[in-house]
Amino acid sequence: MNKEPDCIFCSIIAGDIPSTEVATSEHAYAFRDLHPAAPSHIVVVPKRHHPNVNELSHTDPELTGHVVALAAEAATKDGLDADGWRLLTNTGEHAGQTVQHVHFHVLGGERLGPLNAPRN
Ligand code: 5GP
Ligand code: ZN
Repeated sequence: MNKEPDCIFCSIIAGDIPSTEVATSEHAYAFRDLHPAAPSHIVVVPKRHHPNVNELSHTDPELTGHVVALAAEAATKDGLDADGWRLLTNTGEHAGQTVQHVHFHVLGGERLGPLNAPRN
């Protein structure tokens, strides 16, 4: 894998920073968010470093599919299918992307708030 120096998620994938696994595959990894925004909050990343979904989807559409499929698997494993769950990704500053390794958030476990929550 192409580990990017100073990338938190590359370090998590390499096992250098501990994380709690929810699901894994050859190409993607799903783990619990350190600061959960919902009862179930899972972060899903490609094992190969890509900065955001724009770059990922253009350079490797097949990998994009793998990551989304693992997100769905992780949601199922966490028991979210009956009541529903949300999949989202932040891209760039206005969306509040804080880690520059593309990641999808799986959120569920309670009725979720509006998609564009007010800033605090
Ligand atoms: P973003 O704001 O970029 O969309 O999401 C980054 C997410 O990564 C945040 O929800 C944050 O809580 C999570 N996060 C940041 N550092 C770590 C970490 O070291 N471990 C885990 N498990 N999650 C992290
Ligand atoms: Zn990375």
